[in-house]
Amino acid sequence: MRFRLIPGHNPGPFTGTGTNTYLLPGAAPALIDAGAGDPRHLDDLAAALDPGDGRAPSALASVLVTHAHSDHAAGTGALVARWPRAIAAKFPWPEKDARYSVGFQPLQDDQPVPAGDGVLWTVHTPGHAPDHLCFLEPHSGTLFGGDLVVNGATVMIPASSGGNLAHYLASLRRVLDLQPRRILPAHGSPIEHPAALVRSYLAHRQIRERQILEQLAAGPLTIAHLVGRIYTDLARDLHGAAAESVLAHLVKLRDEDAVAEDVEVGGPSRWRLLAR
Ligand SMILES: [Zn+2]
Repeated sequence: MRFRLIPGHNPGPFTGTGTNTYLLPGAAPALIDAGAGDPRHLDDLAAALDPGDGRAPSALASVLVTHAHSDHAAGTGALVARWPRAIAAKFPWPEKDARYSVGFQPLQDDQPVPAGDGVLWTVHTPGHAPDHLCFLEPHSGTLFGGDLVVNGATVMIPASSGGNLAHYLASLRRVLDLQPRRILPAHGSPIEHPAALVRSYLAHRQIRERQILEQLAAGPLTIAHLVGRIYTDLARDLHGAAAESVLAHLVKLRDEDAVAEDVEVGGPSRWRLLAR
């Protein structure tokens, strides 16, 4: 399978060096993730579609979006405007998809999608976002991973806006079972040892859950308390992200009847352990 990394040119605190989009050239040139619509991204893509030997450039055939977060989906409109025959497709998340003036074709789980000179298979991997898809190229064992995993960091589970930790853990286990040979993520460098990284993610979440349960064993706490006690050397500006992560764990534990939330009028909820 041939592919080319086309950088999104959208670096930032939540995108690292920016979004990696991947072009699969061939009979049906497909772009995995749309980036955020930076003109330099479109120009890089146009250059990659041009054979450079006088023959006409290929037209983009499809834009396959891993999920509706703006650094992956917002550029779709600009891409379709430049390559009007291109089809945009993603797993539906109606309330978020409506923000983009694009008629996305709906993708489901475990569906073949023509891309380049071959076929990719969709793998629905909710957790980071409910609509999250990975795309598996079965011959090379390459998984285009979107925001499922990233080298050297953890992935944010935005529990107050569509993230779900229990779903995320199930998605990680499913990808582990698929045994991809490598994962090409939407942020950061290629992951050449997927199983080791995915196992370390699962272990990290287990440790975090244990820490939360240990803290709550001493009595009810707010999320801010939990963040302060567990993330002892975290920069202040990352406390919001840590709070989302703790909330993601608490929602999972609440769904398992392990903890309960006591809503306080005029203040943050306190979370307490339930006797089992
Ligand atoms: Zn995302």
